[in-house]
Amino acid sequence: EHFLERIKRLNPTINAVITVTEDAARQDAIEADQRIAAGDQGPLTGIPLLHKDIFCTNGVLTTCASRMLDNFVPPYDATVVARLRDAGTVMLGKTNMDEFAMGSSNETSFYGPTVNPWDVSRVPGGSSGGSAAAVAAGFAPLSTGTDTGGSIRQPAALCGITGLKPTYGRVSRLGIIAFASSLDQAGPMTRTVEDAALMLSAIAGMDSGDSTSADRPVPDFRADLGGNIEGLRIGIPREYFSDDLDTAIAAQVKTALSELESEGAKLIDIDLPHTRDAIATYYVIAPAEASTNLSRYDGVRFGHRCAQPKDLEDLYFRSRTEGFGDEVKRRILVGTYVLSSGFYDAYFKRAQQVRRIISEDFSRAFEQVDVIAGPATPGTAFPLGSKNNDPVSMYMEDIYTLAVNLAGLPGLSLPAGAVNGLPVGLQLIGRAFDESTLLKAGHRLQ
Ligand code: GLN
Repeated sequence: EHFLERIKRLNPTINAVITVTEDAARQDAIEADQRIAAGDQGPLTGIPLLHKDIFCTNGVLTTCASRMLDNFVPPYDATVVARLRDAGTVMLGKTNMDEFAMGSSNETSFYGPTVNPWDVSRVPGGSSGGSAAAVAAGFAPLSTGTDTGGSIRQPAALCGITGLKPTYGRVSRLGIIAFASSLDQAGPMTRTVEDAALMLSAIAGMDSGDSTSADRPVPDFRADLGGNIEGLRIGIPREYFSDDLDTAIAAQVKTALSELESEGAKLIDIDLPHTRDAIATYYVIAPAEASTNLSRYDGVRFGHRCAQPKDLEDLYFRSRTEGFGDEVKRRILVGTYVLSSGFYDAYFKRAQQVRRIISEDFSRAFEQVDVIAGPATPGTAFPLGSKNNDPVSMYMEDIYTLAVNLAGLPGLSLPAGAVNGLPVGLQLIGRAFDESTLLKAGHRLQ
């Protein structure tokens, strides 16, 4: 009731939640009470949470913040949703996001932008901006997000919360509306690293419904938080502290790093020479995959259908013209262009090759260090509207996060102080399937 009341009172300002499932939440809470009374209690039993509106929820509107899916009610739960339900969590509703998860500010949502609870004239980041703002505003202690190029870590950083993008394959993508299938991962958005560890244990692990989910043992991530970080080798990429980075943020991040050093970690300078190439590479691969994934929205099988189509061509054309917003259309155009027969080798194939080179940068670095650390974003939360007409400056928001998705690695963003009253995020990047080390190091700072 506390959280429902807060949502009711503050959501008209923050706009972090698209759908509130009030009655179902009360029912879930009663069931959680019964489980607790019966002694069948896990660490998340009865804990309220919000799901990003990209996760299919059985019988509950799932829009992906697009007019295209404004009427879409899925007949099943995403695996992440089902696993969290089985763990006894109480779903309060669905959060706002950038349309089809394309964006870094939440401004591409069909339902209007979410604003940053720290300063309502600023963006919360994106695309999981609603989930980040909801946790920061105390609408729920936990939320889910997805991260294709930074969409968990960047909004977590801008809203002063903790966000984890797990290793590609760690968490099932079944029932998550697809953006770029080789990059998409779901993860926890929480106040603390400990909460993220609990949530990750609940959602991780093999799922026969997602052929890319990994058949790897899932550690008890919370139990792994204990112990010290004596001798942990932390790599500091020179390229992450270049001119792109706001100097006040650099200073905050360095303070957090020296705290880790005083706990016994060793800081080692490293190079990730292809850091800047990640942007161009991502903005070929992600739109290419998006253009094929979004071809299913044809006005026939899912979502929006135009009124009185003349013929099939007109049905496709007008349904998509009306259903998709500008950024989504831009991605579809770029994606179909780079995949087209004349340009495939020059763009898509080339991008796949550079993706491999970026991945090798990380492999080389992890021969010397156990974790890589740096800023999560180049700046703090920016004013609403300030980057809207400049897609490239918006794309720069993810300069420190994109490469991690291209390489399939885990990345954790956690609060590391503030600049002018706005939160700053520290990012820790780990070896594939080594979320435990990230969480343990992050936990030392909280
Ligand atoms: N901001 C990036 C984009 O617009 C990443 C989004 C994401 O991770 N879903 O594509």
